[in-house]
Amino acid sequence: MATVGDRQIEGAGTTPEAWAQWAGFSTMAEIEAAQLVPAGHRAVIVAPHPDDEILGCGGLLHLLGELGRRLALVAVTDGDGSHPHSSLWPASRLRNTRPLETREALRRLRLERATVTRLAIPDGQVSEQEESLKQRLLDVLTPQDVVFVTWRLDGHPDHEATGRATLAACQQRGARCIEVPIWTWHWATPGDARVPWERAHRLNLDADVLALKKQAVNAFGSQLSADASTGQGPILPPAVVARLTRAWEVYLL
Ligand SMILES: [Zn+2]
Repeated sequence: MATVGDRQIEGAGTTPEAWAQWAGFSTMAEIEAAQLVPAGHRAVIVAPHPDDEILGCGGLLHLLGELGRRLALVAVTDGDGSHPHSSLWPASRLRNTRPLETREALRRLRLERATVTRLAIPDGQVSEQEESLKQRLLDVLTPQDVVFVTWRLDGHPDHEATGRATLAACQQRGARCIEVPIWTWHWATPGDARVPWERAHRLNLDADVLALKKQAVNAFGSQLSADASTGQGPILPPAVVARLTRAWEVYLL
């Protein structure tokens, strides 16, 4: 599916069971939503594709909403590249459907108030537009923002380019930037030396919050069903969803 350097997203990846057995989660530093985004600060989520915001941060977003924090989502692409050669899901249909799936997911997390800014960069071409992405983020960001973005070494080219551009914009603005591993859970193995575990903090999700996050993930029907027109299985098969709907989320501080 994608390879950047030594980070290969192919096959089934590391199983959720393998991660569940890893002792590293039990020794990982814990953090609360109110510590990640202190009172008076706005949370800005920069998502390369519709669904990354929920898969990576859905539990946190709900908790921040309950705390009354202001939330802004910056949607970098509309995810129109998820189904190449599909007659069922041509790019035009994905461009319409996937942003609506994000809207529905936010509603399920009780975040109707969140603002959504769509940049409509073509899916798969974020690295070509990295400088322009940075400039557009500079228009949005303020020094008081706490910004969440896919980790700059997450393994998917769009995720890495979005991470780099966001980090650069945050540094220029003086905003705090927190990175979120998403595809990392696929290519990395427990304790993998390529992952900066010393920066990792775990946000625990109680059963109610986790249930809401799972409902929100289920809003992404385009990514969860097989494509009869190409014979491809779901973009997000059950193992991928399971890795990202654990009872905690991991943030790199
Ligand atoms: Zn993505």
